Amino acid sequence: MPSNAGQGSKTAETFRVLVVDDSPSIRRRVVQKLETKKFHITEASSGEEALELTLDRTFDLVVSDIEMGSITGVQLCRVFRGDPGMADIAFVLLTAAKEAKTRFWGRNAGADCYLAKEDMEEELLPAVEKLMRGRVPRDSTRPELTGTPLERVSAVLDHHLFDVVVASEVRNLMDHVHDRIEFGEKALQLASEVLGCPYLVLELLGPGGPTYSIRARGPWPEGDATAGLAALAIPERCIPAAHTKVDVDPRFGEGQHVIGGKAHTCEIRVRDETLGALQIFGGVNGCADVDIQSAELIASALGIVVKSLFLMEETQLLALTDGLTGLYNRRHAAKRLEEEIARSHRNGTGLCVAMCDVDHFKAINDEFGHSAGDRVLQQIANSLTEYVRRNDIVARWGGEEFLVIFSEIKLTAARIVAERLRGRLANMPKVEGGPDQITVSVGLAMLGHGISAEMLIEQADQALYRAKARGRNRVEVAGEERRKTPTIMQTQVDGK
Ligand code: GH3
Ligand code: MG
Ligand code: MG
Repeated sequence: MPSNAGQGSKTAETFRVLVVDDSPSIRRRVVQKLETKKFHITEASSGEEALELTLDRTFDLVVSDIEMGSITGVQLCRVFRGDPGMADIAFVLLTAAKEAKTRFWGRNAGADCYLAKEDMEEELLPAVEKLMRGRVPRDSTRPELTGTPLERVSAVLDHHLFDVVVASEVRNLMDHVHDRIEFGEKALQLASEVLGCPYLVLELLGPGGPTYSIRARGPWPEGDATAGLAALAIPERCIPAAHTKVDVDPRFGEGQHVIGGKAHTCEIRVRDETLGALQIFGGVNGCADVDIQSAELIASALGIVVKSLFLMEETQLLALTDGLTGLYNRRHAAKRLEEEIARSHRNGTGLCVAMCDVDHFKAINDEFGHSAGDRVLQQIANSLTEYVRRNDIVARWGGEEFLVIFSEIKLTAARIVAERLRGRLANMPKVEGGPDQITVSVGLAMLGHGISAEMLIEQADQALYRAKARGRNRVEVAGEERRKTPTIMQTQVDGK
């Protein structure tokens, strides 16, 4: 077999070409075509032989058949692409097969060009010329390569398979995930199965602000470990209680803990959008290269998955909330009320609803304009949200009507709370371009035995109607129709 690749000088004057085909006649045809270009041509009759040749010489271009004995052209191409010392060598695949699948697989392996043997006469030379344009012959010195051809193929395929499996596991994370916290936990569980480093942090910058998931194999490092090394800045609330003994670095301000040691941050992105980061942290020993590579792989696979998680969150949020105020909408509030009523029956705790309606709101719109009216509604929403306890629910029930669900409360307390709430809204700061003061009327109803959500709302509505009829800017309680105009002091002391 002819084999005339130049080995002497460090830089060849002409391109070295490796022609690989198990058919001598096809090899001959390829060589004849290429010879017109004064290339140094080396021939190999199999993928194995081609790989043996790469152990002691280098090439600028490989032209290889696809269908060959035990190592195919596609596998050969993968080995070239997977080896940093050979990845930039131009690679042309030739095939007799016209199947789309074979073409796809060849392209997927990273070949620069894919030609049908029947088109070779016309297309090979132009394709090779195009590929080699602008290139200079490669330096012939190259890093030591070891391993038999089959070992090298299986190492590359194994590596490729690992990448594919990790990416597919990351994609599967969205299955059966209900929220971001659950997603974060599952993602870090997977990452900790792949990575050997002891500390992992997943930061997700989704709608509603960032969330952090943290996974640690042991206690957070302390003392010397934190000195002068790169650090992770994690809001204090995100550090598990068991791991709070860490040094505080003043650079990150109050409430931020810094964990010493060498961290590596892999951004999670989709196109130009940053969606978060996977931070791996190796403690004093730093992160192993293999962990950094795998973390980058996981972070890159996470991009599209995290994006769909955020889109899911946004869709959920849109379905549940009111666009103007950000409060729960009526539909969701009604659902939550059903749930709260069931919980109240189960636990034997009290539940009250307050229906709040802005007084003479139409006049506010008429006098100050619709957008000032909108700002009033937004300010009321904020004020209500700030005022109620964490477990209470505030919703926009209608145009200028707000529903507050007080859970685990007795009527005495609800009365006081509703009264304070009315007072708070009456004393709200003036809305820009709006009225000096706004007031609301409130209808309060306590959940009784056998009362459904609709009945409870109806009772609150009737109490509200009475509050309007009795002069507005007041609280009326359902079931107390006959009471004349009770004063605030009366409502506070007279709890039933
Ligand atoms: P009352 O004291 O009896 O409750 O009188 P009111 O004027 O507040 O009640 P009415 O039901 O007559 O008018 C409510 C007004 O609220 C009418 C409607 O145009 C206005 N409104 C409803 N939704 C919005 C909104 O999203 N933005 C603004 N600016 N106005 C709204
Ligand atoms: Mg009104
Ligand atoms: Mg109204």
